[in-house]
Amino acid sequence: MTIGLLALQGDVREHAAAFADLGESVRAVRSPADLPGLAGLVVPGGESTTLSLLLGSSGLFEPLAELLVGGLPVLGTCAGMILLAGEVLDGRSDQRRFGVVDVTVRRNGYGRQLASFESELDVPVLGGGPLPAVFIRAPVVEAVGAGVEVLATLPGDGARAVACRQGRVLVTAFHPELTPDRRLHRLFVEMTKEERR
Ligand code: GLN
Repeated sequence: MTIGLLALQGDVREHAAAFADLGESVRAVRSPADLPGLAGLVVPGGESTTLSLLLGSSGLFEPLAELLVGGLPVLGTCAGMILLAGEVLDGRSDQRRFGVVDVTVRRNGYGRQLASFESELDVPVLGGGPLPAVFIRAPVVEAVGAGVEVLATLPGDGARAVACRQGRVLVTAFHPELTPDRRLHRLFVEMTKEERR
C-alpha cells in the first residue's frame, strides 16, 4: 500500500522519513496524476494560504476534495489541519479548505510569544508514555463538533484540543514528523489499513 504525501510545499521530507521508519511506502503528490491507488494521504505543515493557492493551480483541489469526501484516510498536521477543518478563523478570505473534520481552528492562534513551543502530551489512544510535540505557529482548535474524538489536549490553561480524529480523518496542531516518536504515524497507518477491509 502507498501513502500519498501532498508535496506542494511544507515539511514533506520529514513525513516521508517517518513512514520509511515504519516500512511503509510513500508517493509524492504534486498533480492529479499522482492520486490513483493511494491508501491514504498526508497534508503536511507549511503555510495553509500558500498550500491553498498551490492546490488550486496544480488542479489538485477538486479531485482531492472528492477523494476526501469519499472517505480517503487523511492525516493533516498544522497547516494540514487548517486545510481539513470545517471552519477557519483568521484565514485569508480566499483561503480554501476541504471541510472534512468538524473543528473550528484559528490560524496562528497561540500568539506571538508562543509562536513555537514544545510540550509533552498524554495521548491515551497511543499507549505508552507522553508524546513529544513541537508546535510552530500552530492553529488553535477553538471548537470541536460532537462527532470528533479529542485524542490529546495541551496541558495547562484551557486544555485545548491538539489532536483530533473523526472517522478516517486525523489532525494535529503540532508536528509529529519532527520528533523521532512514530506512534502517531503508526496510528495513521492503522487507519489506512482499516479502510481497506
Ligand atoms: N501558521 C501556518 C498556517 O496558517 C501553519 C504553520 C505550520 O504548519 N507550521 O498555515
